[in-house]
Amino acid sequence: MTTTSEKTTHPALSAVPLDLYLDGAWTPAASGRTFAVENPATGETLAHVADGGPDDARRAVETAARVQDEWARTAPRERSEILRRAYDLILARTDELATIMTLEMGKPFAEARGEVAYGAEFFRWFSEEAVRIAGDTTTTGDGKNRIVVGRVPVGPCVLITPWNFPLAMGTRKIGPAIAAGCTMVFKPAPQTPLTALALTEILAEAGLPKGVLNVVPTTDASGVVTPWLEGGLARKLSFTGSTGVGKILLAQAATTVMRTSMELGGNAPFVVCADADLDKAVEGAMVAKLRNMGEACTAANRFYVHRDVADEFTAKLAQRMSALTVGDGLAEGTDVGPLIDAAAIDKVRALVTDAIAKGASVAIGGDTVGASGHFYQPTVLTGVPRDADLASTEIFGPVAPIFVFDDEDEIVRVANDTDWGLVGYLFTQDLDRAFRMSDRMEVGMVGLNTGLVSNPAAPFGGVKQSGLGREGGRVGIDEFLEYKYLAIPKG
Ligand code: ADP
Repeated sequence: MTTTSEKTTHPALSAVPLDLYLDGAWTPAASGRTFAVENPATGETLAHVADGGPDDARRAVETAARVQDEWARTAPRERSEILRRAYDLILARTDELATIMTLEMGKPFAEARGEVAYGAEFFRWFSEEAVRIAGDTTTTGDGKNRIVVGRVPVGPCVLITPWNFPLAMGTRKIGPAIAAGCTMVFKPAPQTPLTALALTEILAEAGLPKGVLNVVPTTDASGVVTPWLEGGLARKLSFTGSTGVGKILLAQAATTVMRTSMELGGNAPFVVCADADLDKAVEGAMVAKLRNMGEACTAANRFYVHRDVADEFTAKLAQRMSALTVGDGLAEGTDVGPLIDAAAIDKVRALVTDAIAKGASVAIGGDTVGASGHFYQPTVLTGVPRDADLASTEIFGPVAPIFVFDDEDEIVRVANDTDWGLVGYLFTQDLDRAFRMSDRMEVGMVGLNTGLVSNPAAPFGGVKQSGLGREGGRVGIDEFLEYKYLAIPKG
């Protein structure tokens, strides 16, 4: 542990602030402590970031609570313009932000650029929503009273994000909070604070008033978040992360009856019917499996392929996946970067070993790459038994297990036989089958003949233990608004 903030030598990081952001000022942690941020491709230390603690957390939420009333009264157009300016600034700094993301998280540079565009779009989308917040008026049944329903900001929000999409998971929460007129305390993941701090600097530059957004990176997640959830000043929690942590936070949020939006884990089925266009299915599989090295809650986790097309689909997928280049995300030509850390590699290795022990065969891959870094080969497993651990565990790596099926009814039941329900992918050219099966899939989102569902204009979210609420789309802002009803007797 070091105790002084150290500037890194990497050029893309030289402008990134490394302190906490409290009440509009870059501030060292009260304890004076910092923590190291590592490059998962090389193990090198990229920077030391201020390590916030409970005292900093309390200061952050007190600030958010203090400025809430004034911020709520700003003109919607003003909030809209801040978001729009931030959108422009993010796009103007695409390469810089993409480099920061690749350095601290590992994804290939081209994908990181894609995330910058995707992440920025939440700001443009919610800049448009900020000026369209509408209530309604009606009359009581007896005609004697007016019912005037308005929308008001829910209040100070706690935002907690994971490491896998360091920019987009932030903008997806900050965008609607700003649009709705909510203040925020924000804890990014300890693996990826640099993107969050760079984003914060952009928002300050775009004119976000001081105190509206307060950012506390930390290695003591519970120490920072507990005063936010149990202290009574924050009114809303928006969390993206694992189901296990989500349950802990829901229990804590219950102590002060906070509103919650929870984007939790997934176990996405990817169903290829006998009548599917196999080239489209393979294309979809490449995206659904390999985007972000498979480190996404939307990643296809279980491939259910009809027996009639299983061999052909497997051969095509294996051919495409074996042509991928694994390496440092900043190196020219890299398709698949490192996994986030040693624990991620250990988890993938254990899942593959278990599947093989239970009878699966390795079509391609099946091992780590190189001695240093956390790289895993793109892997296709065939003949995977339904009781293999990876059928019920989020793999979070570039491993595609293929299960064969014969019957539509049976496979819908198997696909739904999980505690999660975020997304399902379905490939068929039969329109009736497409609607019939998507109706029955217990998920919040279906990718029908596509491997990508995420879009700022669409409501992202899941059912069952995949979460509560939706982010993005027309309903995304609702998560940050309350109804307020005025009862007015007719004169
Ligand atoms: P992942 O497995 O993707 O890292 P986590 O759920 O562990 O998912 O982490 C998501 C976010 O939740 C991160 O910002 C992490 O620091 C935070 N987090 C983890 N544990 C806690 C906790 N007990 N209280 C509050 N936040 C937590």
